[in-house]
Amino acid sequence: MSRLRIAIIGGGVSGTALAVHLLLRGAQTPDVTLIERGRRIGPGLAYGGSDQAHLLNVRANNLSISDHKPDDFSRWLSKRKGGDQSKTFAPRALYGRYVAEALQRAEGAHWFRRPLKRVRGDAVALRREGEGVEITLASGKTIPADKAVLALGNPAAIVPEPISSVEVIDAWDAAAIARVPSNSDVLLVGTGLTMVDVVLSLSKRPRSGTIYALSHRGLTPHAHADIPPAVQGTLAQSAPLSAALSELRNVARGVHERGEPWQHVVDGLRKATPTLWRGLTSEQQLRFLRHARSYWDIHRHRAAPEAAARIADLRKTGKLRILRGEVVSAGAAGRYIQIVHRQRGSMVRHRFDVANVINCTGASQNLARSRDPLVMQLLSDGLVRAHATGLGLDVNDDGGVLDARGAADTRLFALGPITQGAFWESTAVPEIRARAAALAAIL
Ligand SMILES: Cc1cc2nc3c(=O)[nH]c(=O)nc-3n(C[C@H](O)[C@H](O)[C@H](O)COP(=O)(O)OP(=O)(O)OC[C@H]3O[C@@H](n4cnc5c(N)ncnc54)[C@H](O)[C@@H]3O)c2cc1C
Repeated sequence: MSRLRIAIIGGGVSGTALAVHLLLRGAQTPDVTLIERGRRIGPGLAYGGSDQAHLLNVRANNLSISDHKPDDFSRWLSKRKGGDQSKTFAPRALYGRYVAEALQRAEGAHWFRRPLKRVRGDAVALRREGEGVEITLASGKTIPADKAVLALGNPAAIVPEPISSVEVIDAWDAAAIARVPSNSDVLLVGTGLTMVDVVLSLSKRPRSGTIYALSHRGLTPHAHADIPPAVQGTLAQSAPLSAALSELRNVARGVHERGEPWQHVVDGLRKATPTLWRGLTSEQQLRFLRHARSYWDIHRHRAAPEAAARIADLRKTGKLRILRGEVVSAGAAGRYIQIVHRQRGSMVRHRFDVANVINCTGASQNLARSRDPLVMQLLSDGLVRAHATGLGLDVNDDGGVLDARGAADTRLFALGPITQGAFWESTAVPEIRARAAALAAIL
C-alpha cells in the first residue's frame, strides 16, 4: 500500500514542528514534503535574524520543538553554553539553529528510508485534484499530495496610512536598520515587542538622537516575572465577556497582593484560552479586539527581563520616548521627514523631524489585505475563508480549514499564526508545538 503524502507549505517553526512530529511517528511516518520559499528551513521569520540582542520571550524550558521531549531545547542550550540554561531567555538566532538541527535529528531516525523531502520554492496555488490536492510553485512545478497543511506564518506588516506617503523601513529589515544614523531622531510606529527589538538594535551603538515610539495608547510590553510560573490554572468561562475580564483582573490583583507575580495568572490561562475564545460569539471577539487587545497584548506577550530593563533604562535617560496618539501626517522636509503628531485625548498637534520612520506594527493577519498569491487564490477559489475577526483563516477545532461555505475539507489544514482568529492563542512556540503534535496524530 502506498504511503500517505503530506505537503506542508511553510518551513518556519510551525511547519518544522509538524514535520518533526510526523517523523517521530515511527512506522506510521507518512511521506512529507516541506515547501519553503526561503533559504533555510526551521528559523522562519522570528528566529532567522542574527542580532544577539533579540531575545526569546519564552524561557528555554518551555521551547522544545517536540511535545514528547519537553526539555529538549534547554538540554541543547545547556550543552552549548554550559550550566543549567532551563530558565534562560536565549538569543532568538540560537533558537533558529536548534529548530533546524531538531529536524535533522528527527530525519536521522529514518536512516533506512527518506520520508522527508525538502523543496525550495514559493507555493502560489493549491487546488483539489481527485481525492487529494496539487500545489503549484512559482517555477511552474507541481507537487501532488493527499493532504496539505498551511503553515504560512507571519505575513509582512502593513504600513499604516498616515506614514505610507514617506519612505518607511520595515522592522525586520536588519540591513536598513543598521544604516539608521545614530545622531538623528527616528520614529518607530508601534510600541509592542517588535518595537523592543528595533530599539535594542538601534541602541547597540551609542546614540545622540532620540528614538520616538508611537501607538494609539502608548502601551509597552510588561516584563516576565523573575520567578518562573509554578502552577497552571484556568478561569471558568463567565458571561458576559466583561465579567470574565474583570474576574481575571481580580484574581491577578489577589495574587499580586499575596506578593506573587501576576504574570502567573496570565500564563495559567494559556491552555484554556482557545476554548474560552471559541466559546465567544464573533461579536464578542470583535469587541475584545477593539477594546481589550492592546491591554491583553502587553500583559500576555511580555519581554525578557533583560530586554525590558534595557527599555526602562533608555526611557529613564530620555533616549527613548513613548508617544500616545496618532500620526496625522508625514511628509518630506529636506533631508528629514516631518511628522505631525496628535496626542491621544487632545486636539493639540506638534511637529518634529526624524531621519527615518520604522514600521513596528508587526505581522498582519488581515487576509483581506494579503497580496500573497497563494492566499489570494485560495480565497478567490473558495477553498478557504477568512475568520470572522479578519485574523487569519477560519478552521475547526482540529485545525481543518473551512471553505467559503463553512465546510471542513479533510485534505486541508492550517497551523500557527494563520489560525490566530480561530484560537487567539496560536502564535507562540508552546501552542504551536502542542497543535503540531495533535495535528500529526490526526493526519
Ligand atoms: C519577531 C518575532 C519574534 C517572536 N518571538 C517569539 C518568542 O520568543 N517565543 C515564542 O514562543 N514566539 C515568538 N514569536 C511568535 C512566532 O510567531 C512563532 O514563534 C513562530 O515563529 C511562528 O512560526 P511560523 O512557522 O508559523 O511562521 P514564520 O516564522 O513566519 O514562518 C513561515 C514560513 O513559511 C514560509 N512561507 C510562507 N508562505 C509560503 C509560500 N507560499 N510558499 C513557500 N513558503 C512560504 C515563509 O518563508 C516562512 O519561512 C515571535 C514572532 C515574531 C514575528
